[in-house]
Amino acid sequence: MIISIDDSAGFCWGVVKTIDKVEEVLQNSTDEQVYVLGDIIHNPREIERLEAKGLKTITHSQLQEIPKEKSKVIIRAHGEPPSTFKMADDLGLNVVDATCPLVQALQNRIKKAYDMGYQIVVYGKKDHAEVIGISGVCNGECIVVKSVEEALEKIDFSRKTMLFSQTTMEKQAFYEIKEALENKVKDFIDGGEINEVFIAKNTLCKYVYGREDKLQEFAANNDIVLFVAGKNSSNGKSLYHVCLQSNPKTYFIEDIDEINYEWLAGVEKVGITGATSTPQWYMEKVKEKLENKLSKELVEV
Ligand code: SF4
Repeated sequence: MIISIDDSAGFCWGVVKTIDKVEEVLQNSTDEQVYVLGDIIHNPREIERLEAKGLKTITHSQLQEIPKEKSKVIIRAHGEPPSTFKMADDLGLNVVDATCPLVQALQNRIKKAYDMGYQIVVYGKKDHAEVIGISGVCNGECIVVKSVEEALEKIDFSRKTMLFSQTTMEKQAFYEIKEALENKVKDFIDGGEINEVFIAKNTLCKYVYGREDKLQEFAANNDIVLFVAGKNSSNGKSLYHVCLQSNPKTYFIEDIDEINYEWLAGVEKVGITGATSTPQWYMEKVKEKLENKLSKELVEV
């Protein structure tokens, strides 16, 4: 059996930056407790690794309870709304911002469009940390939609509108929403230019959709695929579906113990891949586990 790890898998550029920053802060804080507000990234195994080095994950309500002396609070890769920064500032806390630069850039673009009077529409998940941050930069006034139907129902077509996307959503669905809104807007404008009243910005992250072609090829070249990711990872869900389209025998696992060895029956090639928040070291552990299992079976035979 050949077991291989996808070359294009592993942390994306933004997660590498965030994790590097956390490691640096932990190393330079021998005398201070380092906190992170919410999960640093959506991967429990990487969170456990960092927590073993001293990182403590807290909720927003716990922010008010931590001592302001000898503490550092890291803002995670998904970013936070301005209200969180203000609260931390009012509490006199030492904040280290590890927001992914691409998420920061998205917040800035949305804030600018909002200040220009656009109705803001975001294709995303309203409870996702990144969307909560986005919503905060436009006073909670953005309309978050997950489908064409929801967009057509919620948007006020009498207002000039700008459509954005949460960075980790699916490309095809974004363009479906864009097309549906354009068609609807055309019905409303009389002789005017569509791009004066409706602008769509593809703000999907290139580190997610840029992986799609290679991922499809990787999935198709293996008999089965183990897709390793945190269950809460948005890009994990989206890339898993990309994999599944190329290879119906793609299995989503968060933990090594979720592997069902019956999946391997009669299989020659196993591929291991994951989300942009799946650490390389964990995919290697999955590979090692499979190899050990196979060599044990050979000895028993
Ligand atoms: S997927 Fe993109 S937006 Fe999200 S952390 Fe990685 S680089 Fe940043």
